[in-house]
Amino acid sequence: MIAHVKKDIPKNELENMISDYGALHFEENGHIVLITSSSDKKLDEKYSRYLGDSFVFDSDIQLASQSYHTKKREIAIADTKIGGDTKNTIFISGPCSVESPEQVETVAQKLLSLGIKVFRAGCFKPRTSPYSFQGMGLDGLKILEDMRAKHGLKIITEVRDSTHVDDVIERADMIQIGAKAMYDHGILKACGQTKKPVLLKRGFGTTLQEFVQAAEFMLSGGNSNVILCERGIRTFETKTRFTLDLCGVAFLKKYTNLPIVVDTSHAMGYAYGVPDLTRASIAMGIDGLLIESHPNPKVAKSDASQQINMDELEELHKSLKPIAHAVGYNLV
Ligand code: PEP
Ligand code: MN
Repeated sequence: MIAHVKKDIPKNELENMISDYGALHFEENGHIVLITSSSDKKLDEKYSRYLGDSFVFDSDIQLASQSYHTKKREIAIADTKIGGDTKNTIFISGPCSVESPEQVETVAQKLLSLGIKVFRAGCFKPRTSPYSFQGMGLDGLKILEDMRAKHGLKIITEVRDSTHVDDVIERADMIQIGAKAMYDHGILKACGQTKKPVLLKRGFGTTLQEFVQAAEFMLSGGNSNVILCERGIRTFETKTRFTLDLCGVAFLKKYTNLPIVVDTSHAMGYAYGVPDLTRASIAMGIDGLLIESHPNPKVAKSDASQQINMDELEELHKSLKPIAHAVGYNLV
């Protein structure tokens, strides 16, 4: 359950509550938000004088639940807002990995020409094989920072493990937690301690319940700027890399209060399918899209088959505005 606790509660009483219920807590809007397991339906009478509103749930989807925050949370990525009443769909694009300053510059020029404001690229890549390109690490982050200083584009880049979690949190405008890192509690807890927006990708073998509970790790740390990203789940099908779970997107829209971004590139795994899947996704009324693009996908050091080239990016981007408008959203 979630209980709003008055701020003037004596310190020892708060400590007693926390230890009685194994509760987590953070401060928000002038009160303490205390969260216990959803199996708790009422707190002991002895605490009643310190309590404001309280909320009970039938599962541990609590802070992320629409029955707690009936309105979708608004999240700002620099001066671009999504969620809340904005009806904005943010378009985020860039290569799978940072490979060189020249590659980043070519993509940045294209994003600028299309009015796209957020650049994606990974520097710490969670590869399935130890023999594949692992990313440029801190050198890659420096290339992204130089690009941001030159062009003003904001950066989303991923955290792979605990060795660089603080570096990424400090330098990124939005932190990406990848499908494989989604279960890393060290990363989740570190991202709960910042106020920067975090894009949490769904693990490919993760139920919707588990996915939203991973978000709860950050929300309960006090970071309310959490965005969910559907990027495909593993099914029996092998002709496509993963299967984009748009049913899951419908569930998340109805039952959670978090903005939702769809990544069609990783779901499809092949560039030919990305434009159609992206148009299908934006027609659902979503808060953002994450699309991999590369100046020359054939020679990309990671995810070569799924990245679209600069002309394809332009064509796709142009085709999305009318679809967004048709469902009451603006492409930003
Ligand atoms: C990526 O965005 O390049 C990536 C590795 O994604 P995912 O974690 O969804 O596989
Ligand atoms: Mn990728």
